Amino acid sequence: MKNIPLIRFDLHPDFRSSLLEWYASNHRKLPWRRTSDSYKIWISEVMLQQTQVAKVMEYYDRFITRFSDVFQLAKGDEQEVLKYWELLGYYSRARNLHKAARLVVEKFGGVIPQDYHEFRSLPGVGDYIAAAVMSIAYQQPYAVLDGNVKRVLARLHLLKEPVNDSKAITGFRKKANSLLAVDQPGQFNQAMMELGAVVCKPHNPFCPECPVQTYCGAFQTGLQDKFPVSIPRKEIPQYHISVGIIFKNDKLLITRRKDEGLLGGLWEFPGGKVASGENGQQACIREIKEETNLDVEIEKFFITIKHAYTHFRIVMDVYICRYKSRRVKLRSAQDFRWIKIAEIEEFPFPGANHKFIPKLQAEFSVIK
Ligand code: SF4
Repeated sequence: MKNIPLIRFDLHPDFRSSLLEWYASNHRKLPWRRTSDSYKIWISEVMLQQTQVAKVMEYYDRFITRFSDVFQLAKGDEQEVLKYWELLGYYSRARNLHKAARLVVEKFGGVIPQDYHEFRSLPGVGDYIAAAVMSIAYQQPYAVLDGNVKRVLARLHLLKEPVNDSKAITGFRKKANSLLAVDQPGQFNQAMMELGAVVCKPHNPFCPECPVQTYCGAFQTGLQDKFPVSIPRKEIPQYHISVGIIFKNDKLLITRRKDEGLLGGLWEFPGGKVASGENGQQACIREIKEETNLDVEIEKFFITIKHAYTHFRIVMDVYICRYKSRRVKLRSAQDFRWIKIAEIEEFPFPGANHKFIPKLQAEFSVIK
């Protein structure tokens, strides 16, 4: 890759107009593109972080219908916000959004700040969200930098810096800012993201349909499959987990995770990692004792499910347990409830639990 000619497409005035014209007539008609309401744009951008558009489509309208403005969101209960976010993942986004909405009401009278740094100071608002909301809602000249934009930039400029290397972020940001159409920053940012999402895809980009192929280093040199460069991911570890659904008469025990950390604030069935030398049943009884202080006995094996998180995978054995003795004393969870099966729907649970909740509801419906 040494003798690649330097392509000064970024100085070419037609680059921006070609991209903007293409976007104007080809963009997908998504619900959050029909509004200039900064609150709704903010919600959509938070949902879209690390989540596919198709998935966000399932959630956005429902969330906006329930929490129609920043006052409604600020007034809402965190559990309800999490319920509306359930299965969308990355739950700290929802908790931070809720906290940020309260701050917007308390400190800014319910008006979402138009100052980049004030908005950036809110919980959960990073560089990407701040640039997206400031440019799309308020037409301020901040370039967005997400995975799609980085891939497009890497191909346009033949950038050798890995897209997943945090040290390379400054270089990517410089390129993004130098390209930005400052007179239409919102449209331009959306056009760059759209190009990455629907044309300049990670594999087999549709170069013949690309509005900026004339300015693209990768297209001109035939090196599309060599860019972007990325550092190979480490192998994802897998953990063996054992959990118990503890019945006491017609009720079962659920516990609520601490707010901090993975799946923070969600409800689950108690359990934990299977230690070396243990089997699933032994781990289930030990973990329940450690986490809740309860003595239980295993009634039967219920199901094994597999689930993948971003940085690890789990294999989870689930057992039906019978309460024997002692009172609940929590070690790491922040709350607990004895609930009827019919009440499960009222609580937000992680995706792994949702893989067996329908079976649980079906099998134990007689004790609803
Ligand atoms: Fe991506 Fe191909 Fe367009 Fe270059 S020409 S930006 S590689 S789709």
